[in-house]
Amino acid sequence: MFKRFSITFWATVFVTVVCLSLVGVDVWRSLNARSEQLAEKAHQGANLARAMAQQADDTIKAADIALADIVERIETDGQGAAALARLQRQMAAQVANLPQLVGLFVYDDTGRWIVNSRGVLNQAYNNADREYFIYHRTHAGRGPHVGNPVISRSSGKWIMPVSRRLDKPDGSFGGVVLATLDIDYFRRFYQSFELGQHGAVALMTDGGVLMLRQPFDTTRVGSSMRDSELFRHYARLSGPARTGSGFFRSFHDNAVRLNSYRPLAHYPLFVTAALSREEMLEHWRRDTFTRSVGVVVLAALLGFFGKRLVDQIKLRERAEAELRQARDALESANRTLERQAMSDGLTGLANRRQFDVTLANEFSRATRHQSTLAFIMIDVDYFKQYNDLYGHSAGDEVLRAVSKLIRALTPKRPGDLTARYGGEEVGILLPNTDLAGARAVAERIRAAVEHLQMPHNGSGFGVVTLSAGVATLAPRRGEHVAGMLVEAADKALYAAKSAGRNRVSPA
Ligand code: GH3
Ligand code: MG
Ligand code: MG
Repeated sequence: MFKRFSITFWATVFVTVVCLSLVGVDVWRSLNARSEQLAEKAHQGANLARAMAQQADDTIKAADIALADIVERIETDGQGAAALARLQRQMAAQVANLPQLVGLFVYDDTGRWIVNSRGVLNQAYNNADREYFIYHRTHAGRGPHVGNPVISRSSGKWIMPVSRRLDKPDGSFGGVVLATLDIDYFRRFYQSFELGQHGAVALMTDGGVLMLRQPFDTTRVGSSMRDSELFRHYARLSGPARTGSGFFRSFHDNAVRLNSYRPLAHYPLFVTAALSREEMLEHWRRDTFTRSVGVVVLAALLGFFGKRLVDQIKLRERAEAELRQARDALESANRTLERQAMSDGLTGLANRRQFDVTLANEFSRATRHQSTLAFIMIDVDYFKQYNDLYGHSAGDEVLRAVSKLIRALTPKRPGDLTARYGGEEVGILLPNTDLAGARAVAERIRAAVEHLQMPHNGSGFGVVTLSAGVATLAPRRGEHVAGMLVEAADKALYAAKSAGRNRVSPA
């Protein structure tokens, strides 16, 4: 597997994998950071909604307690002048005590003002047309009622009406006790929240009417939110499910926000804290952008240097291959040269130079091992005449044929060497060979050449023949030199020539 592909392939794979991992890890980290950021903001929104619901509940509860007290007093003490005067003082004290309270009012069953916290009764006003008045007249329930926001007839402010029903002793409708809560009181509280540029909080009735919204807009107070995405969602929920969150498109400005909604514990109202999705992710976006730029730059650098690295490796590989080729070519040229330098061109036998080197080596080996070294000197008979009669190139042919034969008949043990010693003389070096053995080799060669029957009219034999001188030496250090062996063989050759040629000497 590893061998099948080149190093450049693996380097490319490595660089690519590193680049992709770098980008992949960053994308993964980024997505994680995004969901973390959203979760954190959702948590913030839920906390905000909890605080708002608690505050609204407490604020209304304080007014409602005052209402229940007034109902109890009127139903117990009746509506005599003294009782009403005492009640009026108490109502004024309550309004002074509770900053969210604008006023406390008592109406009879026809909607006329009976007593209020201000002590001034304007008989021109009749509140029988108010929503809360109609509600209590038509509902026997004794619990508190939170009405839709209205502009107060007495103060001109936006107020939240909280009311309870007065019963006559016979249980029939006897009027309404009303507390008006200052919407501005809630607004001041909501103003203290850190909502960002596009965040919003709102207080709404379960009927889908907006009490107030921060950022504050008077024209929106009292408007219906029944068609908003948020309200349609909220209206379908019940019980604990009414506390939750979700992304909804705003009824006011069409922006999508994360809305955390929560009902009030005791009153039919709910709050929402909405954070802009864009704003929630702004920090994340900035962070991701900076990181992404860094990662892209890093990946680009890695890719760039990775490519350069791969190119360098390729270049080096090519250079190495070329170098290998050059070395191989040089080595084979060297071998050829060496062979040429060590061998004879005409006969293919070893040349004189190689013979000298081998002789020196084998001589010292024989000296060390105290073994016998044999040498045969061969010389073609009447060769001058052959050249004269048949021409020089025919003479070369004879030399070639004789050499081939000699090579074929010479033992091939390591150390045995057949060399062209001189013009038409061939020397055979035979280590570890005694005189008899060497003579046998020489005789075999001589007979074979004669047997070739190459015509030679200049010779008394009529065919090409050769003579051989054989010598052996068991060299001893300090006593012998290599030249002595050659000299002895030369002498033997001379003897063979003198004795009539075509023979081996000593016989
Ligand atoms: P002998 O029987 O006494 O050996 O007589 P010979 O004529 O052979 O005498 P010698 O050995 O002295 O002869 C050497 C001759 O060999 C001289 C030269 O013409 C011939 N010769 C030497 N080298 C070459 C060669 O490479 N090619 C050819 N064709 N002739 C060569
Ligand atoms: Mg000769
Ligand atoms: Mg000769």
